[in-house]
Parts: sequence; structure tokens; C-alpha cells
Amino acid sequence: MTIFNLGSINADLVYRVPHLPGAGETLAATSMSRGLGGKGANMSVAAARAGAHVVHIGAVGEDGQWASNRLLEYGVDTRHIAVAAEATGHAIIAVDDAGENTILLHPGANWALSETEIDLALELSTARDTFLFQNETNAQRAGAGMASARGLRIAYAAAPFGAEAVAEVLPLLDLLVLNAVEAAQLETATGLPPDALPVRDVVITLGADGCRWINTDTGHAQDIPALPVTPVDTTGAGDTFTGFLVAGLDRGMPMAQALAQANRAAAIMTTRHGTADVIPDLKDVQDSRF
Ligand code: ATP
Repeated sequence: MTIFNLGSINADLVYRVPHLPGAGETLAATSMSRGLGGKGANMSVAAARAGAHVVHIGAVGEDGQWASNRLLEYGVDTRHIAVAAEATGHAIIAVDDAGENTILLHPGANWALSETEIDLALELSTARDTFLFQNETNAQRAGAGMASARGLRIAYAAAPFGAEAVAEVLPLLDLLVLNAVEAAQLETATGLPPDALPVRDVVITLGADGCRWINTDTGHAQDIPALPVTPVDTTGAGDTFTGFLVAGLDRGMPMAQALAQANRAAAIMTTRHGTADVIPDLKDVQDSRF
């Protein structure tokens, strides 16, 4: 089966600085690196590394061919990544010697997705496929609507959180993944606790405590503990978790087994510096000893 992932692609531009610059200050960085990031790209890489066939639906600018190529190298089908007139989405990340950071995000091409491109990609889909999306593009509502009309399973990671964005897609979802903060924000916005949401499967990630799964049809709730690791960088852990979870479900794994695998992959991710480029693969997950 195929996972159609409608999502952002970013260049993560990381600048090491002696201290974070203040207003009006010009500061020389001591080093700079460029990595592949964006929640959409991270989830596509994670699902592909978990063994799934992943079609990424998104856009880069003319300066973003390298990002598309890197996704391809990681096993993602990139035929539906459009080239937009806008610059490739990017994050300018300053990190100081104490590990504190500031992030400036430019959505660029991620906000220039066309419904025609999404429709074209979904022409290849069947009702046994999954549509995955997050909140970093301009087309999540339209894309989810098109995929739902075609009968795909709809999976959504509600990040970065926006109450309005979540509310408008809730009725379309089969699977909702949130972290604990997002779950609390959603409850405040809707007045509904997670077990009363109109979504069959709700998964709340709980950092070092693993995750909780609630099947709202049956009322079954289950906690799956995290793996004991010493994290060095939790960036991308949530995206890795969601990519592995959706890939496991796509392969027909029962939910509890897919969640255990997702916890394991995300735990490994917390022990690595970086984002898409260091997401573990199935072999790392199977070989891991905790
Ligand atoms: P991030 O924004 O850092 O990517 P998040 O806020 O979306 O993450 P979290 O709930 O913090 O989501 O973490 C996602 C998953 O990563 C957890 O469900 C767990 O499987 C794994 N994880 C995170 N932190 C740890 C940790 N300290 N030890 C083991 N596993 C962890």
C-alpha cells in the first residue's frame, strides 16, 4: 500500500554563534550547516525508512532541487513535489554555546501548493492507501477533503498546533497524533477530552513516558512505555514516531505493535543530533538493544 504524505519540505540552516544576537546586533557565526527538515519531509523519510512506499506531495523553490533529491535518496517517491516560484521553505536556526536557540521560519514554497497537483497525485491512490498530513502547508484542508472523498485512511499529526486548522479537519480523520501540549490545547479549544473526539484512534505522545492510545469506538485506552535512553537532541522525535506508526499500520500491524515500533524509532532518534538525515531505519530499530 502507499502513504501519500502532504507536507512541508524545509532547509534547516543551522548557525553556531557565541551568543544569540540581540536587536540591531550583527554577529558572525562560527559555523554553518544545511540539513533537510520540515515536519512533512521528516515524516516521509521516517515512513520510507520504516519500509513503506511513500509519495510526498509538496513543493520546493528552484533553489530546492537538492532537498527533493535527498528525499529520493532516502527512498521517497518525489514525482509530486512541485517547483514553485517561491523560495524553498527554510528555518534559520541560531544555536549558542549553551545550546539555546532561536528559529526564524520562512514557509515559502510550502504555502504555494496547488489543489491540481494534489489531485494529480491522488489519482494513483486506492482506498487501501493512507493520506498523512500536518499543519505546515497551505493545503491541508483541501488535501484531506480530496483524500477522504477517495476513501483513503486519513492520518494527521496536529503540529504545529492551530485550533482552527485542527477543528476543520477533525471530522475527516481516522487517526490523530498529538503531543501532550497539543492534546491539552485541543481540549481547551473544543471542550472535548481526547476520548470524546470524533476520531476513531487518538494517539498522544508523552515524551519520556512513551505514548497513550485511545480507541474512541470501544473506549479502550492503552499506555505504551518509552524506551530507556539518554536523549541528546529530541528534534524530530515526534515526526519519526508518526512516520513509523503510519508505516506500521500501512503494513497491517495491530495498533499496539505499530506504537511499540514507533516508540523504539523515536527513542533512537532522541540519541542523535539532526533531523531528516539521521532518522533511523527498520534495521536500526530491530537491532537496537535497550
Ligand atoms: P519533538 O517536538 O521533540 O519532535 P514531540 O513534542 O512532538 O517531540 P514527544 O511526546 O516529546 O513529541 O516525543 C515523541 C516520542 O518520542 C515519544 O512518544 C517517545 O516515543 C519518544 N521520546 C521522546 N522523548 C523521549 C525520551 N526522553 N526517552 C525515550 N523516548 C522519548
